[in-house]
Amino acid sequence: MTEAGCLFCKISSGEINADVIFEADDVIAFRDINPQAPTHVLIIPRRHISTINDLVESDADIVGQLYLAARDIAGKEEIADAGYRAVMNCNAGAGQTVFHVHLHLLGGRNFTWPPG
Ligand code: AMP
Ligand code: ZN
Repeated sequence: MTEAGCLFCKISSGEINADVIFEADDVIAFRDINPQAPTHVLIIPRRHISTINDLVESDADIVGQLYLAARDIAGKEEIADAGYRAVMNCNAGAGQTVFHVHLHLLGGRNFTWPPG
């Protein structure tokens, strides 16, 4: 359920403080401590899953919940119409530094493609 030493498990349980903006039974969202855009929110499953590679078929619902939370938060942050990024990095080569899956919701500025 939780993994010892995992930063985001500790945020989910309340052991470590974060600027939490959304809480549901299985999902929690908080502002990134080092924001890369005016809105930068991390949306995570409460249950520990290390990377996208570790997802199993029965995780389909929780992954869907992450995106539904992103939709709702984007609306509340008023970035939905202008546009936003909702991305997950997987493993070090993609820039993953915290090994508890998290959906980055970034908005409030324009983004370029391809990403860096
Ligand atoms: P990633 O590089 O995709 O693994 O993203 C990890 C994100 O977690 C980075 O954007 C960090 O700025 C963010 N982060 C690290 N520690 C904290 C924290 N204590 N509270 C909120 N965000 C954090
Ligand atoms: Zn964790």
